[in-house]
Amino acid sequence: MKIIKTIEELQQIRKEISSSIGFVPTMGALHDGHISLIKQARANNDIVIVSIFVNPTQFLAHEDLDKYPRRDIADQKICQLCKVDYLFMPEINSMYQGDDEVLIKAPKIASYILEGLTRPGHFDGVLQVVLKLFNLVLPTNAYFGKKDAQQLALISQMVKDLFLPINIVECEIVREADGLALSSRNVYLSEDQRQEALKISRSLKKAGKKIGAGEFKVKKLKKKMLEVMDTLDVEYLAIVDRNFNEVEEVQIGNTIILIVARFGNTRLLDNLWV
Ligand code: AMP
Repeated sequence: MKIIKTIEELQQIRKEISSSIGFVPTMGALHDGHISLIKQARANNDIVIVSIFVNPTQFLAHEDLDKYPRRDIADQKICQLCKVDYLFMPEINSMYQGDDEVLIKAPKIASYILEGLTRPGHFDGVLQVVLKLFNLVLPTNAYFGKKDAQQLALISQMVKDLFLPINIVECEIVREADGLALSSRNVYLSEDQRQEALKISRSLKKAGKKIGAGEFKVKKLKKKMLEVMDTLDVEYLAIVDRNFNEVEEVQIGNTIILIVARFGNTRLLDNLWV
C-alpha cells in the first residue's frame, strides 16, 4: 500500500491507472463500518483508493472538528490489512487553498431538513469535499454507508445533477453485536451513555418488527419507538420516503426511519431502510 500525501502525487499516479477504481472517502478513525465499504471496493475493482481527511468545511463553528478522533497509524495498518492500494491523506491547506473558493451549494430543501436543520451548511461542505475528491480520484465506483442516509442521497443527487461519470454504491449499516451502529463518535460515550444508546437500535428493531407484522401507520410506529427511547434526548425521529418527504404510511421499499439522539455533546445517528 502506498500512502499519498500530496495532490500532485495522486494526480500523477491516477494518470497511470486505466483499470477500474473503487474509492472510499472517510474521515478516519476507521471501524468495521468503514472496513465493510473497503471490502466491497476491494471485491469489485482492480484498484482501491481510500481517503482520510477530516474536512473542516462540513463542521459548524461549535462542532467537534478539533476533538474529532484521529488515529492515523492504526488507520494505515487497517488499510494495509484490507489490501488498499493507495491511501490518500492530504493536508487541509492542499485541499483548500484560499478563503474565496468556488463553492458548491447543496439543494435548498433536501439539505436544510433533518440533519441540515441542526447543521445548516453542513451538506455544502460535504458536497464540496466529495466533489474535490471525486475530481482527484476519478473513481469508477464510490462507496458510501446508508448510515448517513441524507448524505448518501445528496451525493447521489450531485452525481446526477452534475453528470459525474461515477457509480455510487450504497452500503449496509454495520453494527456492534448489541445493535449499536458503528460510528467514529462512539468513543465519546461514557459506559452509561453507551448502554442508553442501545435504545436507538432497539427502537428501530421494534419498528421493523411492527412493520413486519403489518403496522404501516407512522403515528403508531413513532409512538412505539418513542416508548423504547423514553429516557433519551431524541433530536428527531422521522419516517420519510426515499426523497426525504415525511410520510403517513410506511411503504415497503420506499421508506427510511431516521433517528438522531443526543448524549451530552455527542449526536448519534441511526436509521432503518424499510
Ligand atoms: P465517516 O468517516 O464518518 O465520514 O464515514 C465514511 C463512510 O463510512 C461514510 O460513507 C459513512 O456513511 C460510512 N459509515 C460510517 N459508519 C458506518 C456504519 N456503521 N456502517 C456502514 N457505513 C458506515
